[in-house]
Amino acid sequence: MNFYPGPSKLFPSVEQHLQDAYQSGILSRNHRSAAFSSMLEKCIELLYQKLVIPTDYTIVFCSSATECWEIIVQSFTQEQSLHIYNGAFGKKWKEYTHNISDKTIDFSFPFQEKLSLNSLPNQNSIDLVCLTQNETSNGTQLSNELIGSIQQKYDSSLVAVDATSSMGGIYLDFEKADIWFSSVQKCFGLPSGLAIMALSPKAVQRGKDIGDNLYYNSFTKLYNNAVKHQTTYTPNILGIYLLYRQLEERKEIQYYDQLLKERMESWKEFLKNNSTFSPLESNALSDTVVTIQYKQSLSIVEQAEQEGIILGKGYGEWKESTFRIANFPALNTEEIKTLKLFLTKLS
Ligand SMILES: *Cc1c(COP(=O)(O)O)cnc(C)c1O
Repeated sequence: MNFYPGPSKLFPSVEQHLQDAYQSGILSRNHRSAAFSSMLEKCIELLYQKLVIPTDYTIVFCSSATECWEIIVQSFTQEQSLHIYNGAFGKKWKEYTHNISDKTIDFSFPFQEKLSLNSLPNQNSIDLVCLTQNETSNGTQLSNELIGSIQQKYDSSLVAVDATSSMGGIYLDFEKADIWFSSVQKCFGLPSGLAIMALSPKAVQRGKDIGDNLYYNSFTKLYNNAVKHQTTYTPNILGIYLLYRQLEERKEIQYYDQLLKERMESWKEFLKNNSTFSPLESNALSDTVVTIQYKQSLSIVEQAEQEGIILGKGYGEWKESTFRIANFPALNTEEIKTLKLFLTKLS
């Protein structure tokens, strides 16, 4: 059982889809062939439909969320990028950006608190705002509403959102930001090596105006190929195929949104009545990653592994006093019950 917050459990149908991919011959087709390009087109169609992405947004594929961090600094900012974060992934994004452009502005806030709009900086030079919707390292999140008010506050900038550990799990209001990205090994329950990026018309225009064309993954190259349902380089065809097949079978995002929120409520209830564990103390708890604090060092992650249950360790200074579990759609009720039983026995 794998509760690690990514890569996490795969959807069971992946096994059949892997076989189908082999049988269908799609894996040996050229990425400019009609066979590939029509599969890519269908996959993108389904993304719009199943994730409720506005149809005027452009969807492109790349290899990882980390690659998206680099594409965004290379292709979408000329002035200053503002990085608003409360944990390790937001910080890493800032560092990757800073390695390429030294004009980053850092705004970190405590994860215990909801981000307050009034405290954010006002520089006119900010042309890109970087947000981590779900901070996987500590299990906190930004709401759709808050992301929307940040977009309003910085209305001449682009707002980019890392939704790696929430896209495909909860409802995201894509209208409320310009660039969204995720990789598929978290809420999509698929093998790693593929990332999805969705761009608003405003982002596409900015990308064209900036016209960055220096890198193999520059936005203009991604875009010029995407309009032809192609990709710049031979992509992860297997990954795109598996995503396509899963999306076909997937229910609407509202279904998973409700399911995960109910499960999260039940986790909170479980932790509230527990003498050994408590939920992370924060006013902005995530719907897709549970961070659990425990009173004494119990080496829970190791003990769980002996029982065949994979958990995520805590991050940074919380490494010893917390552990993390995924609340992703591929996990089933039976597995969650087993984990709760294991935790009950420990306490
Ligand atoms: C997992 C994760 C990443 C990194 O994803 P890769 O696909 O490994 O690059 C980035 N941001 C967040 C919030 C994540 O959870």
